[in-house]
Amino acid sequence: MSDIEESVEDFRLRARAWIKANLGPVQPWDLDQNCENDEEELVAVARDRALQRKLYDGGFAGICFPKEYGGQGLTPAHNRAFNEELAGHEYPSRFSVPTFSPCAAVLLEYGTPEQKAAHIPAILKGDEVWVQMLSEPGGGSDVAGATTAATRDGDSWILNGSKVWTSRAWWADWGLCLARTNWNVPKHQGLTVFLLPLHQPGIEIHRIERLNGESEACQEFFTDVRIPDSDRMGEIDAGWTVGQRWMYHERFGHNSPYVTTPEGVSGGGKTRSKTPTNVAIAKKAGKLDDPAAQELIGEARALSLVSHELSRRIATAAASGKGNVDQSSIDRLFRGVAGVRQATIAFELAGSGAAAWTEEEEEDTGAQGMNFLMRQVGCIGGGTTEISRNVVSERVLGMPREASGDKGVPFRDVPRGPSRG
Ligand SMILES: Cc1cc2nc3c(=O)[nH]c(=O)nc-3n(C[C@H](O)[C@H](O)[C@H](O)COP(=O)(O)OP(=O)(O)OC[C@H]3O[C@@H](n4cnc5c(N)ncnc54)[C@H](O)[C@@H]3O)c2cc1C
Repeated sequence: MSDIEESVEDFRLRARAWIKANLGPVQPWDLDQNCENDEEELVAVARDRALQRKLYDGGFAGICFPKEYGGQGLTPAHNRAFNEELAGHEYPSRFSVPTFSPCAAVLLEYGTPEQKAAHIPAILKGDEVWVQMLSEPGGGSDVAGATTAATRDGDSWILNGSKVWTSRAWWADWGLCLARTNWNVPKHQGLTVFLLPLHQPGIEIHRIERLNGESEACQEFFTDVRIPDSDRMGEIDAGWTVGQRWMYHERFGHNSPYVTTPEGVSGGGKTRSKTPTNVAIAKKAGKLDDPAAQELIGEARALSLVSHELSRRIATAAASGKGNVDQSSIDRLFRGVAGVRQATIAFELAGSGAAAWTEEEEEDTGAQGMNFLMRQVGCIGGGTTEISRNVVSERVLGMPREASGDKGVPFRDVPRGPSRG
C-alpha cells in the first residue's frame, strides 16, 4: 500500500488555494524565458530564485523528489495536478529544464548520498541553477564521442577541452559535465560524469548569438580545471550508463514528472497561452472564411492535442515503470516535427506581415515570422529528431543498429576530424 496520505484531489485543492494566495499572473519573461537584455535577464534570474524559494517554503517544491532531500515525496499525478493549477500563474521558469530535469533527476539516480544532500535541497530552494554540458565543438549528436578530457591527479581530476551550446551557462551555477577519462577503450567505455561549479579559475565562458538575437547559448573552454574526486558522479569510466539515463530524462523535457511548469506551456520557451491562437492570426489576416485557412487551423489543433496526449501517455507509462524507457524518443520526435509544422502553419496564416514586420508588430504578426525562422530549434535542442528516429527504430522497434566504424575500437585509434583533436 502506498504511504502517500494525501489524495491527488486533496492536494490539488490545497495547491489551488496556495497558488492563488501566493503567485501573481504569468509574466511574459516566464513564457519566453528570454529578456530584452542581460540586465533584465539577471533580474529575471534573481526573481526566479526567489519564486523557487517561495515554492519551497510553501511546501510545493520538488513534488516528486524524496522528502529526505527536501522534496514532497509525492507522485507524478500530484505533480501534474500542481502544473494544471499553476496555469496562468508566474513560476520559476529558469529552474524547469535543465535544472530539475535532466540534471536533478540524474543526480537523484546516480549521485552519492553526500552529493544529493549537498545539491538537491539547494536546487529545491532556488540556490543552484544547473546546466548540461554534453555537446562539443566536434559534434553534439555523437555524445559518446566526447573529447573533453579529465585526467586523474591524486584526489582530483584535471579537466581540459571545450563544451558548446550550453544554454544559460553565463549565469548558471553548476554543470553536469561528460568527460573522457580513458582513451584506451571503446568510446562508450571511457567516459565519466562530473559535477562542475561553472564560475571558477580555468573556465572561460563565451556567449553565442543565435538567429533571433538571443545569446543564451554559450561555449566553455576548460584549461586545467581541478575537480575533486568527490564531485565525480558514478563509477570511473561508467559515464555512459549515467549518460543514457541523462538523455532519457532530457527527452521528456517539460513533460518530466520532476518539472514544475504550468499546464499549457510547451518546451523551448514558447507557450500556447502567449502565442495568439491561429484563429486570432487568421482573423487578423482576413482569412477566417478561407477553407484552406480553416484546414490549417484544424491541422494545428489536432497536432497540439495529439502531442499533448502522447507526452502524457508516455510519461505516465514511464513513471509507473511500464513500457520501454526509450519510448520517450517517440515523444521527443513528435514534439519536434509537430512544432515545425505548427510554426509553419502560423506563418502561412499570418501572411506577408510575418515575412516583414515592424517593431510594433513584433509581439503579434512578427512573432510568427520569428517563430518560423527558429522552427528547427525544437528538432535540434536536446538531441536531434534524426537521433530520435535512430533510437525509435533500434531500441523501440528492434531494427538493426546503424553501421559504426568505431565499434570495439579503442577511442585513441578512432579517426577524428581536426576540430576534435
Ligand atoms: C536551443 C538549443 C539548446 C541547446 N542546449 C544545449 C545544452 O544546454 N547543452 C548541450 O550540451 N547541448 C545543447 N544543445 C546542443 C544540441 O544538443 C546539439 O545541437 C545536438 O545534439 C546536435 O548536435 P550538433 O549540433 O553538433 O549536430 P551534429 O551532431 O553535427 O549533427 C548534424 C546533423 O547530422 C545528423 N546526424 C548526426 N549523426 C547522425 C546519425 N547517427 N544518424 C542520423 N543523423 C545524424 C544530426 O541529426 C544533424 O541533423 C542545444 C541546442 C539547441 C538548438
